[in-house]
Amino acid sequence: RGTTPEPPDVRPRLTVLSGPSGVGKSTVVAHMRKEHPEVWLSVSATTRKPRPGEQHGVHYFFVTDDEMDKLIANGELLEWAEFAGNRYGTPRAAVLERLENGEPVLLEIDLQGARQVRESMADAQLVFLAPPSWEELVRRLTGRGTEPPEVIERRLDAARTELAAEPEFDVTLVNTSVKDVAAELLALMDVV
Ligand code: 5GP
Repeated sequence: RGTTPEPPDVRPRLTVLSGPSGVGKSTVVAHMRKEHPEVWLSVSATTRKPRPGEQHGVHYFFVTDDEMDKLIANGELLEWAEFAGNRYGTPRAAVLERLENGEPVLLEIDLQGARQVRESMADAQLVFLAPPSWEELVRRLTGRGTEPPEVIERRLDAARTELAAEPEFDVTLVNTSVKDVAAELLALMDVV
């Protein structure tokens, strides 16, 4: 007797875009969103101060340290991490609501956050954005050339460690062209 094949798993998945700092995650996401504004991107809470042009509720929810303490204590964050002296976290409810409505969800977060999502959401798709080469990442991290050598050295050390996380991810996309990577990401999310 033949067995009935399992129906294909059509549940939209949570896709996490992560990678070393300086690799260009936010540029890829910005490009993707310009072409596909319907793709929902989670808005993180952060204790970092807004940069010029950043809007509360659009780029981030800018919160105080006390507010962040409460979000964490109340279990309102799907994941959170400290990055360069500030805390960042993904509000849980908005993500779950979208997934339940059948909408694809994209998170653009650091590596520590990606590891936490791996633990709590087993079917999440973890995408690692890699630089085209080590030399290119060095060029981007040292970019402005205004930082003292010890600061740059610390960043490069961090980047070496971050690059070593690649095998923990389901998929690697190499950031050779923003346009191509954005298209590959959309395909991975089944938005084409
Ligand atoms: P920036 O301060 O440049 O906007 O972001 C710094 C880093 O924090 C980036 O690597 C970004 O991906 C990461 N980040 C932004 N939001 C979140 C979040 O909600 N959770 C985690 N873990 N990292 C985040």
